[in-house]
Amino acid sequence: MIKIKNLNKHFGSLHVLRDIDLNVGKSDVVVIIGASGSGKSTLLRCINLLEEPSSGEIWIEGNIVDRRKKNRLNILRRDVGMVFQHFNLFPHFTVLGNITEAPVQVRQVDKQQAYESAMALLEKVGLTDKAHAYPSQLSGGQKQRVAIARALAMKPKVMLFDEPTSALDPELVGEVLAVMKQLAAEGMTMIVVSHEMAFAREVGDWLVYMDEGKIVEVGRPEQIFEEPRHERTKTFLSRVR
Ligand code: ADP
Ligand code: MG
Repeated sequence: MIKIKNLNKHFGSLHVLRDIDLNVGKSDVVVIIGASGSGKSTLLRCINLLEEPSSGEIWIEGNIVDRRKKNRLNILRRDVGMVFQHFNLFPHFTVLGNITEAPVQVRQVDKQQAYESAMALLEKVGLTDKAHAYPSQLSGGQKQRVAIARALAMKPKVMLFDEPTSALDPELVGEVLAVMKQLAAEGMTMIVVSHEMAFAREVGDWLVYMDEGKIVEVGRPEQIFEEPRHERTKTFLSRVR
């Protein structure tokens, strides 16, 4: 589904991603862990071209991702949904407005149809009663569930999550993880940056440990938790657990 080959990213003299190789199969859930500043967000942002790689290739379903090909860029943005730590909802739109905006504007979906799909998505994330609320009237967990519904409204083939529960009060983390778990069970291909180790272990098919812009270790979550191959992975895990 996604193939990343020898990806490098520089910000000026800062070498942020170093020779990243990663393959993600259809319906795989890949959880990325690593210290702050190790390049996790930049990697996700390269996959949906919020950042332009300095070198290397990213392929999605057999299509190379290339910023210079404008039509491709639009297809990519449609096929790759992203959920951010700070929700990034449009504050002046209602929940329904947030979810229907892109399908109507970008996918040219008929308004009534977009509305019906949005209601179905709100049902899925348990928020039909908030359809007409504004983001400021929602809890963090509710905002994040709306953000997930909004991303799903574009019918993406892949969902990227960048620390989706890090900004939430602890008691609200579970409701967001539950929605993500359900998505995974439905076969969505997902790349999730998260330090929720229980989620990684239960839902993740693969765990990726990054340090200083490199992938240090990739493996099954049980394997990495029980017997990490690298000293750095061991040290990191002992700190976060
Ligand atoms: P993580 O998500 O693992 O915390 P990031 O991908 O956000 O790491 O950042 C990796 C490194 O790249 C950090 O040193 C960060 O300061 C730097 N960085 C990220 N975005 C930019 C940018 N737009 N310009 C310059 N440096 C950046
Ligand atoms: Mg980050």
